[in-house]
Amino acid sequence: DAKEKGRDNYQFFNASLNESMRVKMHLENGLRKAVHRQEFTLCYQPLIYLPTGRIIGTEALIRWEHPEFGNIPPSDFIPVAEDTGLIIPIGDWVIEEACRQNKVWQNEGHEKLSIAVNISVKQLEDPGFPDRIKKILASFDMDPSFLELEITEGMMQDFDSSIPNIKRLKDLGLKISIDDFGTGYSSLSYLKVLPIDTLKIDKSFLDDSLESFRGQALVKTIIDMGINLQFNVIAEGIEDRMQVEFLLSQGCLIGQGYFYSEPLSPTKCEEFFQKHLSPR
Ligand code: C2E
Ligand code: MG
Ligand code: MG
Ligand code: MG
Repeated sequence: DAKEKGRDNYQFFNASLNESMRVKMHLENGLRKAVHRQEFTLCYQPLIYLPTGRIIGTEALIRWEHPEFGNIPPSDFIPVAEDTGLIIPIGDWVIEEACRQNKVWQNEGHEKLSIAVNISVKQLEDPGFPDRIKKILASFDMDPSFLELEITEGMMQDFDSSIPNIKRLKDLGLKISIDDFGTGYSSLSYLKVLPIDTLKIDKSFLDDSLESFRGQALVKTIIDMGINLQFNVIAEGIEDRMQVEFLLSQGCLIGQGYFYSEPLSPTKCEEFFQKHLSPR
């Protein structure tokens, strides 16, 4: 049927350049319609307070079920959305839906549950962005301190011009984290001036953290640096118990990863709450 054929088409991402250009144009057209057609959903990965194993929040991650191609991962379509400017309406939808869902969960008794949302630099640079977030927060009567926006370190080219934009967001009362920290090949000096709250250690550092002396030393050093700078430090990509023990021994208190849970549908997430109830 059409869907099966679509899955075959999707394989062309790995095929010739011409084919992948064709598929990219097809994607672009699809993206334009996807917001109205409600083809996007959000899944939520639990954020865990490592000393107790309790859930303290979630990270919203977008999913796209394309009518022909099937499930397309964000790493394939977010760059296209950024190139075309479509990331603005898509990003607005993500924040609105994530805040709506988090408020529902808060109202259901998880009062302190926080929500993290990934944003692109294009959104950060959009002058109308802070005002739209303000309206979204007000429409759900949501306490801004429960919303955290994640900006990927490597995507920020010009830190000086990012500072005023980040300040405008921080003035709303929400939190900012640097995602995939340590992969951006940038100078550390920006940590002196960027008004941020949280460092998320990129999962690639955890992959081999226990296998080599340098790998361990690097994770230790990043955690220490984050603590010394009085940032929250979050580890992403935790896949086993040994990594948890190591992180705890170094003072990293918050993490997420397949060891605790993969990203979940809202229903599955509610089941997770039942098992890992109550904050902290
Ligand atoms: P990210 O923000 O660093 O999100 C973490 C990614 O790692 C997610 O992939 C998640 O499913 C995956 N992950 C979680 N735990 C583990 C683990 O234990 N091991 C491994 N190997 N991976 C794990 P996903 O959902 O495919 O998202 C990929 C990236 O796409 C995200 O990286 C984020 O930068 C971007 N993205 C996702 N949703 C959005 C969105 O709504 N807006 C924007 N602008 N970007 C998004
Ligand atoms: Mg993230
Ligand atoms: Mg991210
Ligand atoms: Mg990340």
